[in-house]
Amino acid sequence: MSKSKERQTKLLHSDYQPPADFGAFPTPVYHASTVLFKSVAAMRSRDWQSRDSYTYGLHGTPTTFTLEEQLAQIEGGNHCILAPSGLAAIAIVDFAFLRSGDDVLIPENVYNPNRELGNWLTHDFGVTARYYDPMIGAGIADLIRPDTRLIWAETPGSVTMEVPDIPAICKAAHEKGAIVVVDNTWSAGLGFDALSHGADVVLHALTKYQGGASDLLMGALITRDDDLHRKLSVAHMRFGMGVGADDVYLVLRSLPTMKLRFEKHGKAAMEIASWLKSRPEISRVLHPAFEDCPGHEFFKRDFTGAGGLFSVLFDKRYSEKQTDRFVEALQLFKLGFSWGGVHSLCAPFRIMDDRKDWGYNGHQLVRFYIGLEETQDLIADLEQAFTVFS
Ligand SMILES: *Cc1c(COP(=O)(O)O)cnc(C)c1O
Repeated sequence: MSKSKERQTKLLHSDYQPPADFGAFPTPVYHASTVLFKSVAAMRSRDWQSRDSYTYGLHGTPTTFTLEEQLAQIEGGNHCILAPSGLAAIAIVDFAFLRSGDDVLIPENVYNPNRELGNWLTHDFGVTARYYDPMIGAGIADLIRPDTRLIWAETPGSVTMEVPDIPAICKAAHEKGAIVVVDNTWSAGLGFDALSHGADVVLHALTKYQGGASDLLMGALITRDDDLHRKLSVAHMRFGMGVGADDVYLVLRSLPTMKLRFEKHGKAAMEIASWLKSRPEISRVLHPAFEDCPGHEFFKRDFTGAGGLFSVLFDKRYSEKQTDRFVEALQLFKLGFSWGGVHSLCAPFRIMDDRKDWGYNGHQLVRFYIGLEETQDLIADLEQAFTVFS
């Protein structure tokens, strides 16, 4: 461009050309809505679904494609879609695969907003959402109808911690022409290889370990199947679900340390869960690595690791009021939803609101997330909180 242009114009159309040999570890952060085309022909022949070119910020930049590629790699998938939250990814799945007249099966212990979305689809969109016992295994075949398109699974249930028999559910689904989407958030794709165990699509709330710092929301959908990916990307496009470049960068920055963090959270969680098991106030620790956790045999067979999230059931003699006081007495464990960051968290859940078949009526459930504080300090914190019962 001519050197004679005005200063204001030069600010917008810089002559600076970066040298080709710049090297650094971080992925460049491209903030882009408009993406530039070299010619009208290139503009007219654009394909927003192609990963070989760029069309508009919403459909991807080198920054988002890098994260998609890394997440697909962790799960052994071929395709990945990023969504603005884990819940947005759940909504993309339902709207990609379900139409009026279709049936969807959802486990009773599912992440609750997924269940609420199922109810909404049933109430207002002509879909039937039915809820199944997460331990049903191959028995799910009896529930699958000709109009059943989609089966959700979550492994383990992120509050009550049952580990379903994913291969058996997938086999039954595939024999009857339904697809299975597995919410694999609990183990970040590091503890359970969902696609290799039969899942058609894997969902992650990247808000958890992938973000790793309790400071962002994002979701991902990973698959090996070209047609399922195309359907997901159409729903993603229709809703215009873009993700912010800076948030994508934060996930890219956290991913290389995710395995180390996950292992550390997992080791500390096992120590604390074992300690809690020995407490007289606790009647059961719900952690898939423990033999008395429903689905422990599938955990042993299918999983290679566990992170920092588990729940406990208090002895029946404690009321909700008493366990609320316990939770509020904790100092290092903060009261809040979500998990996957560096800080320990706890949250009481009312299971009876969601589960008709829950076998532990009358026991208060509290979920713990074990952060990166020293284990002995967390145990000391629990110990002092238990004194509210005496
Ligand atoms: C947190 C979570 C989600 C939703 O993720 P958000 O990013 O918070 O919307 C979905 N599924 C599971 C199992 C989760 O733990």
